[in-house]
Amino acid sequence: AKYILDVLDEEPVVNAQQLRLWEWIAAYYFCSLGEVMQAALPAALKLASETRIILMEDHETDKATLNDKEYLIVEALSIQPELKISEVTKLLGQKTVYPVLKSLFGKGVIHISEEVIQRYKPKRKAFFELHTDYADQENLRALFTVLERAPKQLEALMGYIKLRRQGPQISKKELLEAANCGEAAIKALVEKGIFIQEERIVSRLSTDEAETYTNFTLTVTQEQALQSIRQQFDSKEVVLLHGITSSGKTLIYIRLIEEVITSGRQALFLLPEIALTTQVIERLKQYFGNQIGVYHSKFSDNERAETWTQVLKGQYRLVLGARSAVLLPFADLGLIIVDEEHETSYKQFDPSPRYHARDTAIYLAHVHRAKVLLGSATPSLESYYNAEAGKYGLATISGRFGNSRLPEIRVVSIAEETKRKTMVSHFTSVLITEIGDALSRKEQVILFQNRRGYTSFLLCRTCGFTPKCINCDVSLTYHKSTQKLHCHYCGYKQETVSVCPACGSTHIEQKGFGTEKVEDELAMIFPGAVIARMDLDATRTKYSFQKILADFEERKTDILVGTQMITKGLDFDHITLIGIINADSLLNYPDFRAYEKSFQLLSQVAGRAGRREKTGKVVIQAYDTQHRVLHQVISNDYHALYKTELAERKNFAYPPFYRLIRLDIKHKDQQKAEMVATRMAAELKVTFGDRILGPQPPLIARVRNFYIQTILIKCERAGDSIQKIKQALAAILLKFEADKANKGILLRVDVDPF
Ligand code: ADP
Ligand code: ZN
Ligand code: ZN
Repeated sequence: AKYILDVLDEEPVVNAQQLRLWEWIAAYYFCSLGEVMQAALPAALKLASETRIILMEDHETDKATLNDKEYLIVEALSIQPELKISEVTKLLGQKTVYPVLKSLFGKGVIHISEEVIQRYKPKRKAFFELHTDYADQENLRALFTVLERAPKQLEALMGYIKLRRQGPQISKKELLEAANCGEAAIKALVEKGIFIQEERIVSRLSTDEAETYTNFTLTVTQEQALQSIRQQFDSKEVVLLHGITSSGKTLIYIRLIEEVITSGRQALFLLPEIALTTQVIERLKQYFGNQIGVYHSKFSDNERAETWTQVLKGQYRLVLGARSAVLLPFADLGLIIVDEEHETSYKQFDPSPRYHARDTAIYLAHVHRAKVLLGSATPSLESYYNAEAGKYGLATISGRFGNSRLPEIRVVSIAEETKRKTMVSHFTSVLITEIGDALSRKEQVILFQNRRGYTSFLLCRTCGFTPKCINCDVSLTYHKSTQKLHCHYCGYKQETVSVCPACGSTHIEQKGFGTEKVEDELAMIFPGAVIARMDLDATRTKYSFQKILADFEERKTDILVGTQMITKGLDFDHITLIGIINADSLLNYPDFRAYEKSFQLLSQVAGRAGRREKTGKVVIQAYDTQHRVLHQVISNDYHALYKTELAERKNFAYPPFYRLIRLDIKHKDQQKAEMVATRMAAELKVTFGDRILGPQPPLIARVRNFYIQTILIKCERAGDSIQKIKQALAAILLKFEADKANKGILLRVDVDPF
């Protein structure tokens, strides 16, 4: 038993349903409850402790008995009342300060107190009001005379009177805007008792979005889909809405959300991280106004803490959020919508918990007895399989809204154009002609290149040397914006090389190309066009993403070059051309999901073209122009893709037929990593037999100086075998962690890895 020192929250910040979900996450994804809590709670709501060092009031220490370091601390404390640990560390210039503090404490010189603090700091704002004495006209007039000799204060008073019609209390910001007076004048009026100042806690979250309800009527097909979803919710917890791009899925979501809110329950709308800041939020805000809370990682800690509290109190009826929004404290959830359910950004890669927000949402809904609607134009194989198997319901919309037709897709051979010498750097003549035509019609163009930076790597033509990261087994990418070589795995940067460090040759070639280079070359080919770029580098700050999109929407930009960020959720009227610079790099990616992902990405990006009346065009540049996935994209044949992929997955025992658990064993020493991984795999094989694949090094075998070995476990989905596998695995992992021989080894467990 321990003493309670302080009560920090009047009410718990976490609710019971949440705990049930967190426990499920911990069990399913092999992590601790603490890790889930760490991921869920905004830092501002987590407890932190602060150690303070204070001088004992009645100490009578002979300074001669103190050593140099102790003396320094005592001296500092005689000047300032208390020291924090960080200050002591700085003072002594060393990391370990506890021995010194312990000694001082032992001598009775200092007192060390540990205090639990809460980091959430409410935002306060000052408001001003005129003292009631001056409510009466005569006194007010007298005041004017008094203030004649203080023109700035008079100015502030006039400003106040001008604003008073809006309400008696005026914020400092408003006052400063209305009057040319400066803060000093306001302060003087407060000191004279003319203004009464009041501090108030205000929200950090914007509340200016008033409800501007725009009505709409569903088309017959949309109405049918909605009916079908409602009906299936009677018997199923999850329904998959398969509707092609621009079929109006958002409107169906809105109808369902409306119903849930009206019935008094909450709704959660999940979006993949990137699409979050786009138009979907704006559109939902138009319908639901201030009942909406938005939650994602670009908000500050304090802002997130505020949203958290509002959700807990049930004040937000609808929460729009990225992955982590499933971890919020919902009071009474009725519906969860997972838009673009196939998106891989729903899966958390690192750190643990490595949860999939879609699958977690399904459990969350189960806890609340809520329904889940998964929406996509290109569903994940897993979800479609579940729908086919009858585990989920299925609703389909196969036509686009209004007159807009699906774009016309053309595959152009890079090989052939290279042979005919009609390529202009990375662009085929076909694409260049199409871009030129679109620009001359004042229409907008999107170009997709799946790699950021300028080149992929540098290569010495004399000796074959390639600059590599010092921490990872990966070549460095040249970035023109920084004029440096970057590692995309650990962030390492170094000066670029013009002379080969291995042989001294100056014959250095740039290999491959990224978005920066595409942007650069386009500017040379189309000097009159305004070109913007959207990739991870261009969108690091909070509003950069919105800025790029706003410029595009206002048609300040003619061509937008981007990575997969541009494939999601953008709905603009004037895009008529989409160019895919290199489809092969997507298709040849060494992963069992490569074809599925390529199909999804290409279909999604194609879907950005030709909404409304204009028919769009898509030009796909590729070497392998006969690739079956490209044909499936051209004919927009999801079912063909689904069937061919499913057959392969079945043959090779991959999801959705099997579940995968991936173990990464990492160590700074390559041999040690290999040795431990081999031993681990052998042990796993005793229990699991040939379900175990590996160990083998992954594609990038060393990251941040850690050598990696990967083991894959395949689990049958049927029956309770997965439970048994997990239990057995848990036991093996526990033993592994307890074994002193494994010290220094990092073990990463990823359930349903991507
Ligand atoms: P999806 O999410 O399926 O790609 P959206 O919901 O974004 O499609 O709809 C595409 C466009 O068509 C949007 O601009 C939307 O406002 C419009 N739209 C769709 N259905 C209707 C409707 N019934 N009435 C008016 N506009 C509609
Ligand atoms: Zn060289
Ligand atoms: Zn690196």
